[in-house]
Amino acid sequence: MDEPKNKTMGRREILKLGGLTFVGLATLPSALKLFAGTGENGPSSKVRYAMVIDLKKCIGCNACVVACKQENNVPLGFNRTWVKDVERGTYPQVTRGFTSMLCNHCENPICNRNCPVHATYQRPDGIVLVDYDRCLGCKYCMVSCPYNMRFAHPSRKTADKCTFCVHRIDRGLKPACVEACIGKSRVFGNMLDPKSEVARLIKTKPVHVLKPEQNTKPHVFYLNLDYMMVEGNKANFKYMKYYRRNIVKEMGLSEASVSDVSSVLKDKCGADRTYNYKLKDNINKVGSL
Ligand code: SF4
Ligand code: SF4
Repeated sequence: MDEPKNKTMGRREILKLGGLTFVGLATLPSALKLFAGTGENGPSSKVRYAMVIDLKKCIGCNACVVACKQENNVPLGFNRTWVKDVERGTYPQVTRGFTSMLCNHCENPICNRNCPVHATYQRPDGIVLVDYDRCLGCKYCMVSCPYNMRFAHPSRKTADKCTFCVHRIDRGLKPACVEACIGKSRVFGNMLDPKSEVARLIKTKPVHVLKPEQNTKPHVFYLNLDYMMVEGNKANFKYMKYYRRNIVKEMGLSEASVSDVSSVLKDKCGADRTYNYKLKDNINKVGSL
């Protein structure tokens, strides 16, 4: 199902702007701002949609993935959401983890900024969408997304990605993946409503986001996020370093007082005991703060 449009011009009409074709793509964004219905900066309304995913509740059944594909008619071989399934360690110390992935509907979406024709835009409630009529299929947004959450739709020849099932939530329904989640791992709602479950979780639990150092301010929050499980055996120690520094800061600890960082990490990110053993080795490789 297609999402509602917030623009009035189609891509053919844009390309017909003869004068603009002479000035080139570099100057198109400023010119097209005249026509854009929304600004590129984030939400301004009293609604800010967000998702909280508790990875401890995810059993890796992929019901969310199937529901999304069916709901949004996602073509074969492509996904708007997927579950990363990572095994780490060597027998008998092996652990397996699942990490649900989807567009983060970032507060500072770099994909928007890099679209030369403002085909990708953010609604006041924070949802980042693509106007398929305006999209040129140039893929600038795809290469810009630090999370690799976009793909090129093979028949429509446009960018595509998760929309938080905007057509459903505008009718008071939950996103298809949230409805389908067997473990109730995914929670969706208005984080500006203090009575909502997402607001409660974000306020009271140690939520984390993917690649916080990118400063995109994702609005898909994770509970029990384990960066090492996201990255698998190719774990990027840069994240661990970032993560460790923030945990120490969050807890108000001095560097010298952190005698056993792995136990601090265990408390904060819920890493299990087997994994923690490996984690400690890896933290040592990261070096000092
Ligand atoms: Fe854009 Fe990527 Fe953020 Fe989604 S996750 S809003 S595609 S930068
Ligand atoms: Fe904009 Fe992405 Fe479409 Fe290019 S592919 S026009 S950057 S939405």
